[in-house]
Amino acid sequence: MSYHINTKCLQAGYDPKNGEPRVVPIVQSTTFKYDSAATLGKLFDLEEDGFFYTRLTNPTLSTVAAKIAELEGGVGAMLTSSGQAASMMSVTNICHAGDHVVCAAAIYGGTFNLFNKSLRELGIEFTFILPDATEEEINAAYKENTKATFIESVSNPSLDVADIETYAKISHAHGVPLIVDNTFPTPINLRPFEWGADIVTHSTTKYMDGHAVAIGGVIVDSGNFDWTNGKFPMFTEPDESYHGVVYTERFGKAAYITKAVTHLMRDYGAQQSPQNAFLLNLGLETLHLRMERHCQNALAVAKFLEANDKIEWVNYPGLESSKYYERAKKYMPDGTCGVISFGVKGSREKAMQFMDSLKLTKLVIHVADCRTCALHPASTTHRQMNDQQLEECGVKPNLIRMSVGIEYIDDIIDDIKQALDKV
Ligand SMILES: *Cc1c(COP(=O)(O)O)cnc(C)c1O
Repeated sequence: MSYHINTKCLQAGYDPKNGEPRVVPIVQSTTFKYDSAATLGKLFDLEEDGFFYTRLTNPTLSTVAAKIAELEGGVGAMLTSSGQAASMMSVTNICHAGDHVVCAAAIYGGTFNLFNKSLRELGIEFTFILPDATEEEINAAYKENTKATFIESVSNPSLDVADIETYAKISHAHGVPLIVDNTFPTPINLRPFEWGADIVTHSTTKYMDGHAVAIGGVIVDSGNFDWTNGKFPMFTEPDESYHGVVYTERFGKAAYITKAVTHLMRDYGAQQSPQNAFLLNLGLETLHLRMERHCQNALAVAKFLEANDKIEWVNYPGLESSKYYERAKKYMPDGTCGVISFGVKGSREKAMQFMDSLKLTKLVIHVADCRTCALHPASTTHRQMNDQQLEECGVKPNLIRMSVGIEYIDDIIDDIKQALDKV
């Protein structure tokens, strides 16, 4: 039986047996008991399925991961302690020192630092691609040692909409997988695997949790990429740390995600806590309802701002004035996300005056919360970037990012109105 994605938000991944808890239980145990040393030995050699230590996985974590895998339409998923950990491991699962990644320039500031500083320091090189790059320019970025392409489906905070199909085509022509950070649209609005992507990541801290209560991330494997094309010996040659297991032979379509759990999570240990996974699951249960309202409210706010003469520009892919309107309609016919950005006319100071006058809308370093919030990236999340880097990732110095919540729409707009009156 195949259910609609809205039903999967509630019920996927967990099917309690007779007398079991109706709600996914929090298994607050780091370890699991077995009757014989031989059974434990088999678990360690990956010959049998089972839980043995929560740093690798545990029943709560694997249940919630299975739900997200179903929402994205993948063969498996791995929860991580944060979105940063998901981005990091999505790349280091296949890239080592001396390898190279082609990456969209319009990405989350934290991901940019992770790649451009920390992973560079570990010997992985990155080429960043501007949002309006042509197919030829993207093609030209690939090298002999390129092992992956990384993009954001809808970028945070610049709201560029990626042409996933084109990126998938180019990526596959070079024999490497396309990794898509799908945090902003969520699988409710966009499922990158349906457009050729191979791996999806999320900061579950954002819409998936949705209530700003639990940091977390996830990596989802489509199962579609051919790891046996000669570029990825980590899947086709024996892993001596597991008695010579060959991931593609033993795990088939789930080679990538199995290696992520058994190798990277074992070694890096950036596991999500069962408590956070439980909270994440509560968020997932209403994700479809919340995304619909986020999109409705954001479009109404965007239209209001666009008609206001104190506003210089409004950027929301759902607006007809957006250069991404057509592309957004193609990939996300039901809406993109609840995040919009705009510039208040005048100086940087006017923008800050507006921010300080908001009442219902709170100033927080967060986005994709059910409560409306706003942020000035140039002075906060992106303050480490110089002007050229800001321009390259599409962040204007007077950009205000507003994450429109699911409150009653008139109250949100009234708050913006009164704040604009004070500018
Ligand atoms: C927030 C965010 C991240 C990082 O996630 P954390 O959970 O904060 O570590 C990665 N990608 C995008 C698009 C984000 O918005």
